[in-house]
Amino acid sequence: MINKSAVEMAESLSKGEITSVELTKAHLNQINEVDGQVHAFLHVDTQGALDQASQVDAKRSAGEKMPALAGVPLALKDVLVQKGIPTTCGSKMLEGWRPPYDSTVVRKLKENGIVILGKTNMDEFAMGSSTENSAYGPTKNPWDLTRIPGGSGGGSSASLASFQAPLAIGTDTGGSIRQPAAVTGTVGVKPTYGAVSRYGLVAFSSSLDQAGPCARTVLDAAYLHEAIAGHDPLDSTSINAQVPAVVAAAKDGNVKGMKIGVIKELQGDGYQAGVLKLFNESLEILASLGAEIVEVSCKYFDYALAAYYLIAPSECSSNLARFDAMRYGIRSGQGSAEEVMNSTRQIGFGREVKRRIILGTYALSSGYYDAYYGSAQKVRTLISRDFESAFKLADVLVSPTAPTTAFKIGEKSNDPIAMYLNDIATIPTNLAGIGGMSLPSGLAAEDGLPAGFQIMAPAMKDDLMYKVGAALEAELNTKWQGPILNSAPKLGAK
Ligand code: GLN
Repeated sequence: MINKSAVEMAESLSKGEITSVELTKAHLNQINEVDGQVHAFLHVDTQGALDQASQVDAKRSAGEKMPALAGVPLALKDVLVQKGIPTTCGSKMLEGWRPPYDSTVVRKLKENGIVILGKTNMDEFAMGSSTENSAYGPTKNPWDLTRIPGGSGGGSSASLASFQAPLAIGTDTGGSIRQPAAVTGTVGVKPTYGAVSRYGLVAFSSSLDQAGPCARTVLDAAYLHEAIAGHDPLDSTSINAQVPAVVAAAKDGNVKGMKIGVIKELQGDGYQAGVLKLFNESLEILASLGAEIVEVSCKYFDYALAAYYLIAPSECSSNLARFDAMRYGIRSGQGSAEEVMNSTRQIGFGREVKRRIILGTYALSSGYYDAYYGSAQKVRTLISRDFESAFKLADVLVSPTAPTTAFKIGEKSNDPIAMYLNDIATIPTNLAGIGGMSLPSGLAAEDGLPAGFQIMAPAMKDDLMYKVGAALEAELNTKWQGPILNSAPKLGAK
């Protein structure tokens, strides 16, 4: 059962072939079997999950009309608060903290009867591309346990790829849903900024952060997307508009006559040959389905990484000021408030978080503000304009999701710039606030590891990504004789 898609699980539940308690137990068993090796979870809420599952079963047997995904389990990135459940953000700073409320995403999951198995590992405060920055040790890539599962949401994606959960929630500030999806052979979607509420999502960079669905199929992601999206008065940047019909689009999967724009700047130097080969093969598939492939140029994308690494640290230096040893989490040291704050932040934050706080504080300081933060904001506008022009020529834009397949644990952990370069293709969408999806394009010839295909759509047209993604996925399943994830090594007893 755990190898099935979430939609198939939901069907079995509604037909009464299986109960949610049985399904939840099967996943908890898998967690017991394999998570010692993978380390996708920071906290498993066994009792809470079973209680939630039995409530869903009771409602179903009482004849209540159930939401589409009711009774299906899910893994939650540890950056979203869930009442009473430890939330660490992968940081020592929040060790032992139990939030007193539910984030809007969690509230919606519960309303939809989706069973929350536990909290997944992540780079500290979502800063990183490998999950090596977690204070609780790295997550391993289920395809090869010596490799990274991507980041910052490596725990969520690894839980899917090791069949510990059929659905997961991630957050994407610069690629943390899509790059982990790419390197684990799973699907990840960053919706349009403002489409999913940020209420209860611990802030890293507020103008970029966006939660979204992670799954093993495009249709599963679509169902989860519809479950968590929608206007929320508790988030001032939440969009008050109808959620695009992403499930219908994923079911439709017809790309005939669509224009697909290949971004010239997001390929070539620095991209692994096997990743590019799979990308081009996917383009051929889309063309064979009747889409028109055009080339577009986004010349300011070359500055996207530099702009992001000023804007995100600037916002994080301000957002993380709240961890002052007074309000949340750990407290260390003695003396004045300042001394206690100093020593708590000294031991509570890891190296990457400190690096970014220092960088952001510097970029925002008087005398440097215009040169750094101000310039980065201008570049951000130019990148949005690049997208606007490109979307005049194409309905959706595409690129490889990440330049390479999963690298080795430790390979880039001492080289921040090499680490930052992983997000070269995902960051532009965050800067422009538009949506992006990654789905597996196949296994790279040189290392047999999964690569990702990225689809980007204009703001609030997230349905277009699902339409193209579903079309491509169906053909790739034929080409690879089943889902690409089927070739992943089988961990634990199935
Ligand atoms: N890897 C990027 C960073 O380190 C993106 C992180 C994210 O999307 N949360 O900032």
